[in-house]
Amino acid sequence: MEKLVSLCKRRGFIFPSSEIYGGVGSTYDYGHYGVLLKTNVKNAWWRAMLRERDDIVAIDSAIIQHPRTWEASGHLANFTDPLVDCRFCKQRFRADHLDQVQCGHAPSKHPGEAPECDLTEARAFNLMFETTVGPVKESGATVFLRPETAQGIFINFKNVLQVARKKPPFGIAQVGKSFRNEITTGNFIFRTREFEQMELEFFVPPGEAPQWFAYWTAARRDWYIELGIRPDYLRLRPHEREELSHYSSETSDLEYLFPIGWSELEGIANRGDFDLRQHTEYSGETLEYFDQQTKERYVPHVIEPSAGADRAALAFLCDAYDEEEVEGETRTLLRLHPRLAPIKVAVLPLLRRDGQPELATEVYQALRGAIQAEYDEGGSIGRRYRRQDEIGTPWCVTIDHQSLADRTVTLRDRDSLAQDRVAIDVLPGELERRLKAPWRTPKLA
Ligand code: ATP
Repeated sequence: MEKLVSLCKRRGFIFPSSEIYGGVGSTYDYGHYGVLLKTNVKNAWWRAMLRERDDIVAIDSAIIQHPRTWEASGHLANFTDPLVDCRFCKQRFRADHLDQVQCGHAPSKHPGEAPECDLTEARAFNLMFETTVGPVKESGATVFLRPETAQGIFINFKNVLQVARKKPPFGIAQVGKSFRNEITTGNFIFRTREFEQMELEFFVPPGEAPQWFAYWTAARRDWYIELGIRPDYLRLRPHEREELSHYSSETSDLEYLFPIGWSELEGIANRGDFDLRQHTEYSGETLEYFDQQTKERYVPHVIEPSAGADRAALAFLCDAYDEEEVEGETRTLLRLHPRLAPIKVAVLPLLRRDGQPELATEVYQALRGAIQAEYDEGGSIGRRYRRQDEIGTPWCVTIDHQSLADRTVTLRDRDSLAQDRVAIDVLPGELERRLKAPWRTPKLA
């Protein structure tokens, strides 16, 4: 993980937040390539949810919602982690994560293992961030930054049903920031206090819930594999009965083999009719579906695939990171799926003279409208290739002296290092073809 963290900083994917002030626990800022990568992850999710199907609509709800939302959802009462304090080192730990963290004064040990450790009993700590609305703190109502995007979907169920002309089975999808005052953070962007979620609430007739749970569990696994994750690095872990959340009758975690071990990437839950019934009770608005044809009235059940955009980006980065020996040197690269790569093509003049920069600029400008491209003329060609390898650019186009004579370029492939001579006229079509072609990571070979 350290190598990846260092690459992310060096190449401008992800920086520790507020670094000039010494940082603030477990928050990160995304740099240029990080923004492009995470945007591609979210776009791939939207594409699978919206563009490739007709039964899902989008929503973008507010971060601050009516506080009753969190009473109804159970977050006020139940969204807690067990917390212990150490009276000796004054640090706080999640009681169920003691075996994963370091003791505050004897880092080679876990909390509670050193003779001086003096841990309190575990107590429940609510993970929601509180703030107040209105100019006067005392008189303002306490509100919460949403700890998940899902509730913004449930409280809009009626609005969407009235306008979307959909009937169950249908879904409402949302991507947005969520906030959790996590006790145990760390492991880079795996667990942070603010993060982006990609959540689908899929409303189905009650009798169809088990089959849709199986459907979404498989579909979500396939999504990661299609985007290049090695199947051996993914597994499904069904929750034991005692692990299930208060709202769920069935949950499976899709786990990825991160460098820290198997850890949750996405959760898929059968939430039954819990949420719609709770919001009906707390708001007084009836949240149900009336089928005009059959005259049947029912509260739909909900299947929820809930993913983290940052955690998914981390999994794609971990899976893509590679080092190989090329001509006695170590080549570090990100073998990202071309659809996820921040930059699809870099245009590089071999020399900064003889008309090469001018022709390279012409090629770059012809490509940039269609795909994310970058122009780079600084430094030796070897250094520029290394830089593009490290940010995961699948193709480099090099303009050399021959290009000026016959209007051809070399097209270098990040994974195979093959260099093909391609005419400038057919270059946009060739890149489009390559971008659409199925891609498999060479790490599988
Ligand atoms: P965990 O057990 O890791 O705390 P969770 O079961 O509480 O996760 P969910 O509430 O199911 O997580 O959230 C759905 C998804 O949102 C997770 O699978 C993960 O991808 C993402 N997520 C949740 N909490 C965080 C966090 N603190 N930082 C980054 N991503 C998160």
